[in-house]
Amino acid sequence: MPAKQRKIAIMGYRSVGKSSLSIQFVDGQFVDSYDPTIENTFVKSTRINNQDYDLKLVDTAGQDEYSIFPAQYSMDIHGYVLVYSITSHKSFEVVQILYDKLLDMTGKIQNSSVKSPTSCVSSVPIVLVGNKKDLHMERMISYDEGKRLAESWKAGFVEASAKQNDGVSDIFHMVLVEIEKSNGNNVQE
Ligand code: GDP
Ligand code: MG
Repeated sequence: MPAKQRKIAIMGYRSVGKSSLSIQFVDGQFVDSYDPTIENTFVKSTRINNQDYDLKLVDTAGQDEYSIFPAQYSMDIHGYVLVYSITSHKSFEVVQILYDKLLDMTGKIQNSSVKSPTSCVSSVPIVLVGNKKDLHMERMISYDEGKRLAESWKAGFVEASAKQNDGVSDIFHMVLVEIEKSNGNNVQE
């Protein structure tokens, strides 16, 4: 079977570890300081369940509660990784605001071709990530809070540490699984 091409956007508040997670997954290393303003696309091939994937990871420069959802991330993207830091209440709030904007944006686009608007809602493949789980002493958001939020979205959930390479590959495997699930009611090919 030919490799499937999948494009994934990594979004969230600044400094939550979006770039660190991307670089850890793609290069297998933890970079301590990475220019926070850079927006990069990383490529990586991976294989799950006998299927090859060519992934494009769009490491966004970050959003805050006032950001207008960037239109370029509503098209041409198969799945989303929304990242907060378990050490930051603010980043947990931002991810919820981002989620609402994401649904608005993708809903608008899908509504033009899909009859039932409700079928759009569950069909945006999302994985919620609580990063920096190695920082036990600074934890502000419990595992259960993160898990509950993801369940309310019907999204995947992973706590991860880019620093310790813990849970990082799970994120990207999970988003590919979410994308496969949504293919049943959504044209993604
Ligand atoms: P971005 O702005 O979301 O892309 O965040 P970066 O990847 O640039 O990371 C912001 C800061 O958090 C940097 O100093 C990273 O070294 C640090 N960082 C990222 N991930 C982790 C992690 O899992 N654990 C710890 N302890 N620090 C992290
Ligand atoms: Mg970054």
